[in-house]
Amino acid sequence: MVFIISGPAGSGKGTVVGEILGRSDEFICAVSATSRPILKGEVDGVNYHYISRESFEEKIKSGGVVEYTEYCGNYYGTLVSEFERAEQNGKHLILEIEVDGATQIKKKYPHAVLVMVTPPDAAEQRRRLFDRGRDTEESIAKRLRRASEELEYLNQYDYLVINETGKINEAVDNFFAIARAEELRANCTVEFKNKYFANSEKGE
Ligand code: 5GP
Repeated sequence: MVFIISGPAGSGKGTVVGEILGRSDEFICAVSATSRPILKGEVDGVNYHYISRESFEEKIKSGGVVEYTEYCGNYYGTLVSEFERAEQNGKHLILEIEVDGATQIKKKYPHAVLVMVTPPDAAEQRRRLFDRGRDTEESIAKRLRRASEELEYLNQYDYLVINETGKINEAVDNFFAIARAEELRANCTVEFKNKYFANSEKGE
């Protein structure tokens, strides 16, 4: 299965994804490509594949990305090779991507499950962005503006997970409840019918 996790900056979606991977080895998270500069504490090949704008444009031309977008002035995109990696390893794939890319994926893979993670409210979001001290003031302003645009996409998502401050476990539990519900969907269990009748005799 493919799960897309989106959310405005400061939603804590990265922490939620980290906790999911820590709790279960059934999931892997795709490593995206980006043209944005590497930030303090990030590692090339782990957080992102950091490439130039020119290399990114070449990847788009050669069909190496499943989806891509420009977010706050930089390219971000999901590599085809990450889908192959998940398939080869028999894992569910998590894509931590923004709303534009999420809707592109949903068109190509209608069974992809779209999950929006949000802070409880805008005031808390602003507090988190300043507290994490990762972005410049200009970048924070851009990300806050972008948040209201992103929430406009909520009706295209399948699930909403509100990441209340200090309650990360609750958010992660909710993700696993979603994953379980998706596994139990009737249209995901087509093989059940074949198995059900496999041992019964004809005409029984
Ligand atoms: P950041 O600069 O904070 O790491 O990421 C900015 C935004 O880009 C986040 O919303 C993140 O989820 C999104 N993003 C990261 N990788 C991708 C990707 O491969 N495709 C798309 N469409 N968005 C991505």
